Amino acid sequence: MLELATLIPRHARFRPDATAVVFGDERLTYAQFGARVARAANLLRSLGIRKGDKVATVLGNSREALELVWAVPAIGAALVPLSPLLMPSGLASLLRDSDAKCLVSQRSMLPALDAIRAELAPLLPGRVLLIDGETREFGDYAALTAAQDETFVPESCGPDDLFNIMYTSGTTGLPKGIMHSHYVRSMYCLLMAAAYRMTPESRTLHAGAIVFNGAYVTMMPSFWLGGTYVLLPQFDAEATIAAIERERITHIVLVPTQIIAILSSPQYRPERLASLECILSLGAPLLQQHKDRLNADLPHRFYELYGLTEGFLTILDREDAVRKAGSVGRPPQHFDMRIVDLDGRDLPPREIGEIVGRGPVRMQGYYKRPDLTQQAVKGGWLFSGDMGYVDEEGFLYLVDRKKDMIDSGGMKVYPRDVEEVVARHPAVREVAVFGVPHEKWGETPVAAVVLREPRSASAAELRDWINERVAARYQRVSEVLVLPDFPRSAAGKTLKRELRAPYWAGREQKI
Ligand code: ATP
Repeated sequence: MLELATLIPRHARFRPDATAVVFGDERLTYAQFGARVARAANLLRSLGIRKGDKVATVLGNSREALELVWAVPAIGAALVPLSPLLMPSGLASLLRDSDAKCLVSQRSMLPALDAIRAELAPLLPGRVLLIDGETREFGDYAALTAAQDETFVPESCGPDDLFNIMYTSGTTGLPKGIMHSHYVRSMYCLLMAAAYRMTPESRTLHAGAIVFNGAYVTMMPSFWLGGTYVLLPQFDAEATIAAIERERITHIVLVPTQIIAILSSPQYRPERLASLECILSLGAPLLQQHKDRLNADLPHRFYELYGLTEGFLTILDREDAVRKAGSVGRPPQHFDMRIVDLDGRDLPPREIGEIVGRGPVRMQGYYKRPDLTQQAVKGGWLFSGDMGYVDEEGFLYLVDRKKDMIDSGGMKVYPRDVEEVVARHPAVREVAVFGVPHEKWGETPVAAVVLREPRSASAAELRDWINERVAARYQRVSEVLVLPDFPRSAAGKTLKRELRAPYWAGREQKI
């Protein structure tokens, strides 16, 4: 295992002048970032936070959020990063669930914090801090950290000590606290650095929210290697393109909606992104047409990662991106994957079943939920809840989430098959296909679309167009919904559950 508690202090000693972090106009060397991490760690200790405790943050992307990623585990505590987009009730339940001993947040969250006073009471006085000011009740993180010493003694941590707890974004159900140990996070450093060919000279950009696990895929190796990590306050296509060009970014990880936003931006020109060596897509399916465009515009850059916050399963290497178009890659070294039927029996190549995997990057379990952990991990194998098949070379092709499959008169409709068809319509920018109840067939597919230009196509016109082109009768959509935008999770994923809900009201809900 790599010693993550001492990582930043070591870089501060041995690479003091290398640029560690760029945020807005600010550039921090490893010496400066190391000093910030040390002060934050000393502050937490002075508040009585000890090894094994949990420290929650409700922060947008910021220097403080980034320094706490390293400061909290450096004292042996576990970070619980919560999204500022959570509703107060969600925030309250996650704070309760996580047993957080301290909360670091920001002024924009004051109305939400006000609404959850009962949950905050055990932390007061003194252990609710704001990074951008103070109130009568909440402390001033900036002033308190500034008063701390710049040296500190990292806690000694073992492989099973908790590094952080990530709550799932809840695309399909209730959020669960996924526990990642120091061992798993050190494996992220090693495996991802090798997979994406990162070096100490790599310059990584992150434009999405760092409260999500996807951020750790490039953040961990960037800091392990002593590279430069450029963080944007939030995702914005134009700002991302400009930052790639200005900072000569080599590595970036994006979710599909962000890739689509970049490719659709009037500011997009491939030469502005020419410094990139790795464009990594993860978190949700990226339609083939967008992959093709990236491979044509920026050859040998496109990688894909398929995994869950619970553990990752496959990587599509840039060298295979064209030859194995449509695949999400194969398990890297030290990982195994199987495709199994409902009874857990192995299926041969090209037969669709549930994807299960095992390897060194897997959660310790769901926090305080051994029952759920047992359902997800059996005999060391993580059951993904996703359906797919492998080809003869072991490359995985995702079909869909098990929960999203549509049963139409006994025929299985995989929404992605229909989505690939709908996305070919020139007026369509984004599409989500889901199942709704039907008197005769049990369920039928409905397509929700977001158009490139408002009113550039009507629902009826689109429905006819789609139904002339789908491969099978049972894939025909019963309705097309034209929406201004989709409901999305805080990580930017389309929430099919919310699109589906009104149709299933009063019936047994498909979640
Ligand atoms: P839930 O809350 O239900 O666990 P989530 O979306 O919040 O869902 P994540 O761990 O963020 O959970 O996402 C994991 C899921 O994202 C996978 O099970 C898979 O369905 C989808 N996914 C991840 N990577 C890819 C990919 N490269 N292509 C397609 N889908 C992907």
